[in-house]
Amino acid sequence: MSATVSTPASNIPPPIVLVFAGTDPTGGAGLQADILTLASLGCHPLSVVTAVTVQDTVGVDDFLPMEPEWIADQARGVLEDMPVAAIKIGMIGSVEAVAAIAEVVSDYPDIPLVLDPVLSSGRGDPLANEELMSALIDLLFPQTTVLTPNSIEARRLAEDPADDGEEASEAETAPELADCARELIDLGCEFVLITGAHEQGAQVVNTLYNTRGVVHRQNWERLPGSYHGSGCTLASALAGFLALGQDVAEAAREAQAYTWQTLKHAYRPGMGQFIPDRMYWVHGDDE
Ligand code: PLP
Repeated sequence: MSATVSTPASNIPPPIVLVFAGTDPTGGAGLQADILTLASLGCHPLSVVTAVTVQDTVGVDDFLPMEPEWIADQARGVLEDMPVAAIKIGMIGSVEAVAAIAEVVSDYPDIPLVLDPVLSSGRGDPLANEELMSALIDLLFPQTTVLTPNSIEARRLAEDPADDGEEASEAETAPELADCARELIDLGCEFVLITGAHEQGAQVVNTLYNTRGVVHRQNWERLPGSYHGSGCTLASALAGFLALGQDVAEAAREAQAYTWQTLKHAYRPGMGQFIPDRMYWVHGDDE
C-alpha cells in the first residue's frame, strides 16, 4: 500500500510499541490493557491479536488461538511499515503461535522485547500448558530483554516444564526467587523482573535481576483488592518506558510506580476483580 499524504512537520509520531496479546472484552487485561497503558504513557500501540478470549471480570471461559500465519502477517505488515521502538508479548495461545512470533521477532534483534509469560487468568483458568511453556523457554527466552513473571510464574518456569513428576514434587518446596531468577537468566533472558504480590508480607517486593544478580528491589504498599490485568499493565508500561528511551533499570522503576498508581485508582465495574485505571491522571485526583 502507498499513499501520498501531506502532514504538518510538527506532527512527529510518538514512540511506537508493538504488542502481541490476546483480546479481553472486559478491557481489564490483555490487548485492551496494553493499548490503554501505552496510550496513557504517550506511546503509539500497534496491536497484533494472538487469541480471542471469552471472559468477564470473574474469569476466562474460553479462548480461540489465532492462526500462526495470521499472527505473523499482522506483525510483519506493521513492522515493515513503521519504526518500532519496543515489543511486548503477552498471552500467546498456542505452541505454533510461539514459533511464529519467535521467527518474526528474530528478524528485529535490536528492538527491546518485554515478555510477560501469561500462564493463567487471575481466577486460575489456564492460558498456557506445559508444551507452550517449553516453547516460550526454547524460542522466546533467548530473545527476551526483560521477562516479567509474578512469583508463581517464575517458580513454574524455572522448574523446567519439560520435566515431570519428580522435579515437580521437588519444586513444591518453593525455590527461592533469586534462584528462579538465575535459572531464567541462564535460559536466555537478559533481565527478569519478578513481582511479589502473591508472596506473604505487609509489602509487595518486586526485584529486577540480571546476570550479575539483583539490579534493584522495590517495596510497595500492599493494596487490598484483587486486580485484573495488573501484570499486563506492568509489562506494557515497561515496554513503553523503554520506547521512551529509558534504560531497563529506570524503565522497570517507572513502570512499577505507574502500575501502583493504576491499582490505587482501580475500580470495580462488574461482579469480579478490580480493573486498574490506566487513565487515573485523566480522571483527576492528581498525585
Ligand atoms: N492476557 C489475557 C488475554 C488475559 O485474559 C489475561 C488474564 O485473564 C492476561 C493476559 C493476564 O492478566 P494479568 O495481568 O491479570 O495477569
